[in-house]
Parts: sequence; structure tokens; C-alpha cells
Amino acid sequence: MEPLELGVLYGDGIGYEIVSASVKIVSAAAAKSGLAIDWHVLPMGLDAIKQTGSSMPAETVQALDKLDGWLMGPHDSQSYPKQLQNVRNPSGELRHHFDLYANIRPAKSEPYVKGVVERADLVIYRENTEGFYVDRNMYKGIGEWMVTADVAVTAGVFTRKAIERIAHAAFRAARERRKKVSIVHKANVISLGSGLFLNVCKEVGHHYPDVSVDDYHIDAMCAHLVRRAAEFDVIVAENMFGDILSDLTGELVGSLGLAGSINASESKAMAQAAHGSAPDIAGLGLANPIGMIRSSAMLLGWIGKKHKSQLCSTVERRINQGVADTLVSGVCTKDLGGTASTQQFTDVVCEKIEEAE
Ligand code: ATP
Ligand code: MG
Repeated sequence: MEPLELGVLYGDGIGYEIVSASVKIVSAAAAKSGLAIDWHVLPMGLDAIKQTGSSMPAETVQALDKLDGWLMGPHDSQSYPKQLQNVRNPSGELRHHFDLYANIRPAKSEPYVKGVVERADLVIYRENTEGFYVDRNMYKGIGEWMVTADVAVTAGVFTRKAIERIAHAAFRAARERRKKVSIVHKANVISLGSGLFLNVCKEVGHHYPDVSVDDYHIDAMCAHLVRRAAEFDVIVAENMFGDILSDLTGELVGSLGLAGSINASESKAMAQAAHGSAPDIAGLGLANPIGMIRSSAMLLGWIGKKHKSQLCSTVERRINQGVADTLVSGVCTKDLGGTASTQQFTDVVCEKIEEAE
């Protein structure tokens, strides 16, 4: 196989620490498997602002255009200069530019991390481009407006095209899992927008007769997840509902800091941890890199499926096994009750990967 070309965008706050940890670990697992990777470090965030005046320079976007995927660090957009406050934040820019319409977030219980629930193994397919988080630049005046100085109206946008593609992605994923999709909506109140979401997801479901389908109101789903998370397999939801649900499921199985996530289209995928840039602990060696590491592993898995490369899937498995073996051995960062620094944790994961079969 040709070397894999992957982008590296460190970003702000703890970004450098967690992304460089991930690069090291992916490299260790790739070397062990005989997969060559060329890394392309590209500016984003505060560093990019210093160099170019933009938090997501055009050169970075052009370079990413030639790659299958990249590791995206967090950004601290609130700290950017005033004139940049109204432009899209760096990840929003990339999601929009590359139309990364699916945010995929697994949540799986682990024996070595204490969660609120014990046996969950589910994945959320969150629509990533519209709904109540619709790009207000794309739908000028439609998304939100002030009726008077004291009355704001916020509209959501729901389109058949966007619903169909996220639904297909969810049903395809279900076929490789336990063959069950749960549609999340609020069609009893938001009858047009959420109604369309529900109906189109059900229509798409007819193309997958081997996958069973049920549906839940968003509020009821929150309650069900706490009570019986183990019963869910693939959950498909519009943007805001999916955002909220995936924070909930991340915590239910342990901690948001452990959750991997990718943003994907058919042709590109971006690995991005669920948490933010944690400026309060930046540079102190306290950051837990697991969310970013697992996101990077997911990216390798996604590339493996796209190129039908067993090698990439092997690298994904080795990374996840290395993290698991490290946690089992009792090594973890402070947020999980341990004493390891980001670097120490990373070194142990690399050792575990090297020692493994
Ligand atoms: P954003 O708007 O960027 O998502 P946020 O308000 O959600 O930001 P985070 O940056 O995620 O905030 O941080 C929330 C808290 O969690 C902070 O106290 C931070 O130190 C902690 N935290 C976040 N990520 C990690 C991590 N990887 N390791 C350890 N602690 C973390
Ligand atoms: Mg956050």
C-alpha cells in the first residue's frame, strides 16, 4: 500500500499535547503493522492567526483537499481577536467546506472505567450540517432573527437530502453491527421539521429490510438511555439532538474525555475529540489524550473501509488495544484518578502496542 497521507492540525490549548500524543501512538501502531504514514502539519487556530491572520488559512484547506483525512485539535475561538469573532470557527469552516455531514460518536462500556451504565455499546449518527445549528451564513435571514428587540425567533432547517444521507450512513453502519436503528425526533411538537426527519429516516429504512427500526422522542430517549442503554445499537438524530445525546452517552459509559468521534463525508474524514481546548490545563501535561487517540483510531478505521484496507483496520485495532492495555495496567491521567502525565501515558500506550502480538 502507498503511504497514507494524513493531516495534523494541533489547534489551541491542550491541542498540541493531545494531537502530538495521537500522532506518536498512530505511528507506533502503523510501524508495528507495516503501514507507512506521511504526516502533514498544517496551521490552524491561534498559531495560524499569528502567521496569516486567519484561524483556518486557505493554504491549510487546500492542503487538506488532497488528503483522505486529518487529526483536528480543539480550538479556543473565544480567545481570538474581535474581528474574527463573527467568522466561522475552524472546525465549522472545515465541516462546511468539506460537507462533513456525519458526526459519528460511539459509546461503549469498558471493564476498566466506571460508567453510569454497565453494558452499553451504541453509536450515534448525528446530522452535522443543518437542523437548529444550520449555518446562518448559508441561509441568510432564515436561521435566526429578532422580531422586536425583545423577541427572537430561531428556525431550524431540515432538508430531505441531508436527512437521507445521514439515514443511509446510519443504516449502513447498523448492518455491520446489531442491525438496529433508533430514530430520535420530536415530531409530536416540531411537526414539520422533526416530522420530515422521522418520515425520511423511515423511508430510507425500507431499503434495509434486514435492519429493525424504532423511534423515540428526544426527551424520552434521554430517559431510556439512562435506564436501558444496553438495548440501543445505532441512533440517528438531527444536529442539536445528536449533540446533546452524544454528551449524555459519553458520560454514561465513563467520561466525555474518553469519547472518540469523527466528522465524515463520503470522501473525507476529520478525527476530533468531543471535548474542548481546556485552556485551564494547557501546557501542564495534565491533558487526557484518550478522546483524541480514539478519534484518530476511528479515522484509520474509516480509511480502512473506504480503501478496503485490512492494514488500516489492523492499525485501528492496535491503537484501541494499546489504550485498553494501558488502562488495565492502572496507568491513567489525573482526570481519571491517576498520576501519569500526558507524555507518560502516551509512552506506555506505545510500549503496550510494541509488546502486543
Ligand atoms: P468548548 O466550547 O471548546 O467545547 P468547553 O466549555 O466544553 O469548551 P472544555 O475545553 O472541554 O470546555 O473543558 C471543560 C473542562 O474539562 C475543563 O475544566 C477542562 O480542563 C476539562 N477537560 C477537557 N478536556 C480535557 C482533557 N482531554 N483532559 C483533561 N481535562 C479535560
Ligand atoms: Mg464543549
